Amino acid sequence: MLWTVRLCLLLAASSSGVPLDRYSTKGQHKVLLISFDGFRWDYDRNVDTPNLDTMAKDGVKARYVTPPYLTITSPTHFTLLTGRYIENHGVIHNMWFNITTSEKLPYYATQFKNEWWDNGTLPIWITAQRQKMMSTWFSEMDLDFVSLYFGEPDSTGHKYGPDSPERREMVKQVDRTVGYIRSLAEQNGLADSLNIIITADHGMSNVYRNGLVKEITLSRIPGFAFRDIAFHLVDFGPSGMLLPKKGMLDKVYDALKGAHPHLHVFKKEEMPKRLHFATASYPSFSSLTLDMSSTGWFLPVQFNAGEHGFDNEEMDMKPFFRAVGPACQKNLEVGPFETVNIYPLMCHILGIKPDPNCGHLDATKHMLVSATEGKFISVLLLIVVSGILTLQRPSWITWYR
Ligand SMILES: [Zn+2]
Repeated sequence: MLWTVRLCLLLAASSSGVPLDRYSTKGQHKVLLISFDGFRWDYDRNVDTPNLDTMAKDGVKARYVTPPYLTITSPTHFTLLTGRYIENHGVIHNMWFNITTSEKLPYYATQFKNEWWDNGTLPIWITAQRQKMMSTWFSEMDLDFVSLYFGEPDSTGHKYGPDSPERREMVKQVDRTVGYIRSLAEQNGLADSLNIIITADHGMSNVYRNGLVKEITLSRIPGFAFRDIAFHLVDFGPSGMLLPKKGMLDKVYDALKGAHPHLHVFKKEEMPKRLHFATASYPSFSSLTLDMSSTGWFLPVQFNAGEHGFDNEEMDMKPFFRAVGPACQKNLEVGPFETVNIYPLMCHILGIKPDPNCGHLDATKHMLVSATEGKFISVLLLIVVSGILTLQRPSWITWYR
């Protein structure tokens, strides 16, 4: 992990002996996007985070940001990278699935299922490649966009809960990582050209056990039977999707509707518009969406101390946001905005024309020092340190040794 970060920044700085400013009109066009999975907006409130605090002073801090619904990892990350709500970008779950064969793949295996991601929606690096010269990727290697993903503090939040001392300790490690990356950027002469955006995909909420368990068991609901279901995704705590067998839609719906005060069941046409999760582009799936109406309630299929996937209006689901660099204002705290707007922000800084998306630059342009138009993309690289490389403790120890 350390090697990966170092490699990216060094390549961005100086590979092939090409001067840094050769492709920069104002030296403001580089972007490093970092996602710390599950970093809730208020995680720095009860932890000493000197590096994140310094970053806020040197740049912009949002009070919080709002992820798209469903608040789970892969769909929300794809929104960050495409600027589209989940119903419009097509990655509607962490799991690849086939409703005909009932085949499902777990989270990590899904990351290697190309058709799940290559579905016609363009992530930012493809947009950049199409508009600029990928032919120079190997010859020049002056990277303009790098994306990094870390699996923490999500893993620790799941295992121990968001209020645990373990989670607080992990946030300290995240903070040291941020300090390390910023110092590395400076050492490599990138302080005046690199904009660093740090955010997350969703937050985290407590799941109470030991007598405080609040489970909704579908199989115990009168009139509901899994034999009426052709395909289902109910593997992710507070939400689920059901495809009833032919002719069973109303029977299943009637059984679930009103069965529990904290269980909401929606037909596609009933999904609240604000959630942008009607899956209108996917008529063959998600006939019914199940949603727990508040944090703390869940379908009893996982045994974590922390969970996410709830309504994106729940404060526990909100991620954090920081941005620093020559394109950003300094010492500015801004109000909340939706993460769907980060894509047009990045396109603007990079000087590329966004593909059709659901975001608006108006939501974030007040955090920029000036327009950065006409920038010149040279080369672009995506580094995804995948979920399986979740920052295991040995990795962190190595990292900071
Ligand atoms: Zn996540």
